[in-house]
Amino acid sequence: MPPFKQLALPDEQGVVHEDHDHFIKLPFSIQLANIAAVFLPPVALGVGMYLLWGWGFTLLHLLMMTLLYLITGYGITIGYHRYFTHKSFEAPGWVKNGLAILGSMAAEGPLLRWVAHHRQHHQHSDHENDPHSPHLHGGGFWGLWRGLWHAHAGWMFTPDAPELHRYVKDLAADKALVWISKTFALWVAIGLIIPAVIAGLLTMSWTGALLGFIWGGIIRIAVVHHITWSVNSICHVWGAQPFRTHDHSKNNAIVGVLALGEGWHNNHHAFPTSARHGLRWWEFDSSYIIIWVMAKMGLVWKVRIPSAELMEAKRADRESAAVLPVTQATEPS
Ligand SMILES: [Zn+2]
Ligand SMILES: [Zn+2]
Repeated sequence: MPPFKQLALPDEQGVVHEDHDHFIKLPFSIQLANIAAVFLPPVALGVGMYLLWGWGFTLLHLLMMTLLYLITGYGITIGYHRYFTHKSFEAPGWVKNGLAILGSMAAEGPLLRWVAHHRQHHQHSDHENDPHSPHLHGGGFWGLWRGLWHAHAGWMFTPDAPELHRYVKDLAADKALVWISKTFALWVAIGLIIPAVIAGLLTMSWTGALLGFIWGGIIRIAVVHHITWSVNSICHVWGAQPFRTHDHSKNNAIVGVLALGEGWHNNHHAFPTSARHGLRWWEFDSSYIIIWVMAKMGLVWKVRIPSAELMEAKRADRESAAVLPVTQATEPS
């Protein structure tokens, strides 16, 4: 596991100078504690599922939880993130509005606010005014944990930047999107009611409806939240940096797969408007596979992916920082 590294701030010309004297070597015991804190809660959830299997947690609940995790998760990754925030492809009105609704059902906040925060993150990533950098919270063990908590969930309890709305002027001009964003609570409620109704009808019992609500609704939301929040926390601290960026974004294979392709986060910061985050063949990116299929079906078009030359020019092991456009629009082949 690479050591936590203190933030290198840009100078007056905006150039970031990495100060390698500021590496903080975490003791092995603390690294073990970190791993335990990251992996024990999902293991505990798995044990709970095993112990409840057959009465409090059944195949029906597992299927509903998984399906709604995927549907609302892709609403975030393909919709909120790759389409609305970064415009990495184009889509007709019904696909656009459908993605906005599915993303809202993940209960991560109204569309316009989510997109505004994420654009602010990209503009200031790991520097002052980044809404959720895990850095900037002091050095050492407690600085790391304060930062991880802030990046994971704590930042949502801090005030928004006063000019946050200026990041989403384009979306604010779309009446349908503004309405979907304002009726956010309705879509969250629908996402909770659907599994309760399905499980209630299939088991013809109120207990079945309650368990559908809990597993397909509440616990599914918790799983989606923690996995997508891990992109903000874990993927700015632990992982590989194959590309040169002015932040601490990392490619983390575990988050990469679980977060439906979003954990290839160094790739994403290097090429923000790319619809594809897993850029090498082994970097599994299920969100991009779906975008690719949608493009083949004619449901979306102008899917943007970086060319091999652009990727080569931005490789971290290259010396010079060539000034290049970030991505080019390319139809997936
Ligand atoms: Zn980031
Ligand atoms: Zn992004």
